[in-house]
Amino acid sequence: MVLGKINNFYIIASESAVIEVIGGKYIRDINPAEIIVIEKRQIKKSFLYKTPKKQSTCIFEQVYFSRPDSIMFYKTVKEARVKMGKFLAKQMKDVKVDVVIPVPDTGYFAALGFSRESNILFENGFVKNHYVGRSFIKPSQNLRDLTANLKLRPIKEVIKDKEIILIDDSIVRGTTSKKIVNMLRDVGAKKIHFALSCPPIICPCYYGIDTPSKEYLIATNHSIEEMKEYLNVNTLTFLNLNNLVKSCSFDNVKSNIFCTACFTGKYPTKISKNTYKRVN
Ligand code: SF4
Repeated sequence: MVLGKINNFYIIASESAVIEVIGGKYIRDINPAEIIVIEKRQIKKSFLYKTPKKQSTCIFEQVYFSRPDSIMFYKTVKEARVKMGKFLAKQMKDVKVDVVIPVPDTGYFAALGFSRESNILFENGFVKNHYVGRSFIKPSQNLRDLTANLKLRPIKEVIKDKEIILIDDSIVRGTTSKKIVNMLRDVGAKKIHFALSCPPIICPCYYGIDTPSKEYLIATNHSIEEMKEYLNVNTLTFLNLNNLVKSCSFDNVKSNIFCTACFTGKYPTKISKNTYKRVN
């Protein structure tokens, strides 16, 4: 949570971009277990409800959920994503390609970081239609496919006969990634190296994030080689956990404050039987 101000009013929001969107000013992050008492537009006091045993901030915020212009730990999320891309480029230093292409919009800054680190050309290979509604609420499969096609279209001139690094934030079920790869193949991509700015998601989230149960997570049930075959890509690379944590840790942030359970299965709290049953 973050604290901000607009005119004489304080605002508390889940991310700083919200405050700026409505014309306010971000003041600071709110600490875990911190209580801020605001009365008559004044901060009366702020104190810790109790000292947290251990901070476990969701690392997926920086990978995907938060807006890139939001501030986390006094840095923009964009900065963390650029670092993820730079680390990915280091992991893939032997792959030689013509162009780096992001999956819009969440792959954008990681692809930019990759391009800066590797000196490989960055190109927008897709046009995204922001005005098409969500495909999964359409009543028939035909309509859903049509909506998905209208939403994202590849730019043939950028892709044809090229060896490509395609960068996205993560793979959950794998179905969307497969469609995107097929689009690139259809317009003549020579080779596709698919890279993700986080490790494989192998476990569901029990803290309110709507990830599917294990059964639907492609990385839980398939090896990297099997996923590569399924997605029809030439190589498949995930940012390793160590590099992800380094990307999200800035000078003022310790590397042990993150929840990384969806990549490791090591949950920072006990999961009750009921919660476990509900999610699985
Ligand atoms: S399990 Fe994953 S998505 Fe859920 S809070 Fe932890 S890091 Fe975030």
